[in-house]
Amino acid sequence: MTRERQHIRIVGAGVAGLVAAFVCARRGAFVEILEGREAPGLGCSFFAGGMLAPWCEAESAGAQVRDLGRAALRFWLHDMPVAVQAGTLVVAPARDAGELRRFARQTDAFETLDGTDVARLEPDLGGRFGAGLYFPDEAHLTPRDALRALVAALDAMPNVEMRCGVEPSDSSDADWTIDARGLAARDVLPELRGVKGEMVVVRTADIALARPVRMLHPRHPVYIVPRANHEFMIGATMVENEERGRVTARALLELLGAAYALHPAFAEAEVVETGCDLRPAFPDNMPRLVVRGRTIFTNGLFRHGFLLAPALALEAAAIIFGRASEEPDGHPREWHAAAG
Ligand SMILES: Cc1cc2nc3c(=O)[nH]c(=O)nc-3n(C[C@H](O)[C@H](O)[C@H](O)COP(=O)(O)OP(=O)(O)OC[C@H]3O[C@@H](n4cnc5c(N)ncnc54)[C@H](O)[C@@H]3O)c2cc1C
Repeated sequence: MTRERQHIRIVGAGVAGLVAAFVCARRGAFVEILEGREAPGLGCSFFAGGMLAPWCEAESAGAQVRDLGRAALRFWLHDMPVAVQAGTLVVAPARDAGELRRFARQTDAFETLDGTDVARLEPDLGGRFGAGLYFPDEAHLTPRDALRALVAALDAMPNVEMRCGVEPSDSSDADWTIDARGLAARDVLPELRGVKGEMVVVRTADIALARPVRMLHPRHPVYIVPRANHEFMIGATMVENEERGRVTARALLELLGAAYALHPAFAEAEVVETGCDLRPAFPDNMPRLVVRGRTIFTNGLFRHGFLLAPALALEAAAIIFGRASEEPDGHPREWHAAAG
């Protein structure tokens, strides 16, 4: 006997779990979301910068992340429209001009800017940088707003049920389970490690930016993402240790120092928040879908949670439902078969 609709259990309500829930619910499945904390979106996803920057990320992460990341632009601009597509500006202090050339060699889909172009794009940076790169197709979002919007959309769907503060039992009558527990899934995915990321949010009305700006540096590249209410998220460190919940003075020196180098007005900004968490990462820092029986593990989003969650969710849905005819088939598929 075939059931009328699939019952899909999603464990973990971070960006990976919530996007998967949304994609599966829109296919008509009954979706049950189980989150261990008191509310959704309080894990690593809570601290993200929210850059949707597949071409900039290709510089360090390669073409596969770039290609998978394109699904994020479609998802966050059209399916769950919370992103702003204003591009990304990449600059470097004059002494690190070589970094800009190196960055440009590693990626594509950018325009090369001189100082006048930089000033036209971001007037407050006028006269401060003689060169830059502009990635016009990139976008950004505010992660906590994006997670709230996802939760609101899921709440409004009659075929979705979310329960928080629960520990899922091993037995379930779901047809499929999507395990999206982030780093907590290393009880069954032992290759996962945590990569510490620290960030700071400041507020100042003395400078305005229309888009994320990346400031290159040989050791401490940082990005600054403009947010509402004159706030700016400055991120993020990448530290190979698993110390959760402690933002170091070194991190603040690096992050705030880079912001100050971008514009001295940041020196007078109010510090609104500091935060950190551990990014779930596999040894190659690439995401994986691992299928074991009727469980699909979606994990290893590393520094690309918002960028890669849509591609992973679409692949999980393709495993469960088959590929929908209207769905783009542009994703390389070898990564989802990664051995678990
Ligand atoms: C400082 C910083 C900046 C970042 N900037 C960006 C950025 O600009 N762009 C980007 O795309 N990514 C960014 N990232 C990376 C991104 O945040 C992560 O890749 C992403 O959050 C991982 O999402 P996840 O859903 O896998 O994990 P999580 O968000 O950690 O979600 C896992 C969820 O599972 C729940 N859970 C765990 N165990 C159980 C259980 N037994 N039962 C039920 N629920 C359970 C947890 O409570 C949690 O809610 C950044 C990360 C950091 C730290």
